[in-house]
Amino acid sequence: MDFRDDVDLDASQVEERGGGGFSGGGLAIGGGVVGVITLVVALVLGVRPESLLPGGGSPPQGAPATSNLADQCKKGSDADQSEKCRVVGVVNSVQRYWRDAFTQRGKQSYRSSRTVLFTTGVSTGCGQASSAVGPFYCPADSRVYLDLGFFEDLERRFGAKGGPFAQAYVIAHEYGHHVQNLLGTTRRVGDNSQGADSASVRLELQADCYAGVWAKNAVDTGFYEGPFTSSDIREALDAAAAVGDDRIQERAQGRVNPEGWTHGSSRQRVKWFTTGYETGAPAKCDTFSANI
Ligand SMILES: [Zn+2]
Repeated sequence: MDFRDDVDLDASQVEERGGGGFSGGGLAIGGGVVGVITLVVALVLGVRPESLLPGGGSPPQGAPATSNLADQCKKGSDADQSEKCRVVGVVNSVQRYWRDAFTQRGKQSYRSSRTVLFTTGVSTGCGQASSAVGPFYCPADSRVYLDLGFFEDLERRFGAKGGPFAQAYVIAHEYGHHVQNLLGTTRRVGDNSQGADSASVRLELQADCYAGVWAKNAVDTGFYEGPFTSSDIREALDAAAAVGDDRIQERAQGRVNPEGWTHGSSRQRVKWFTTGYETGAPAKCDTFSANI
């Protein structure tokens, strides 16, 4: 998946927050712990409030860490050469697709969401989070959070083959959650957050389907040279399978317990990414009505 060399990147859709993260800004000074911690939607684990670190609340008010992404990531050729710029390119393409899809649908317009790159830990509108959570989307501040170290985890910890398209799948999945937030779908989860037939699993499988929809339409966004190859798609499918609940449970506990599922099995995740990719149509991603 090569980017078109001459396409302009919009680095303002991605921001970098400096290392550490836990000593940040008003956290210690403000003192008041905000009681309400919002559910976040992640790629791999069912992130409940207790897995966010205590003490979170509003993000630090100070200026974001200085970022030179805008200097580094100007053209598609930069996205082919650096991992950070590739994230910018993928984010740009995913959001271009959804902006156009919302326009065609004609009911509401798309609102852009930034990706925050961080290391170790980060303050979010959903509380303090550590890298251990994996990539996630916080509905409260409409941002995607990503520690690039996760891409190594994907291979080492989850046994995926990795690769640029596996990474693109991760990003497109999180933007699927942003779309769900804009459309009001996220609210459907409520307390129904665990189990093979839960609303949480349906929400996650829909985000996988949306990732597939983007993959199908990605070339039309103008950021890529040509259609994705079957080996690109295999990378995504392999990553989707690697983060299936059954496979994660098998690895961690040596057994599979569907009652604890939050994201769906490997088979289901592959199935729904494929549904999105084969149809290219968000309307086909109705995991809430379908037999998943
Ligand atoms: Zn997710």
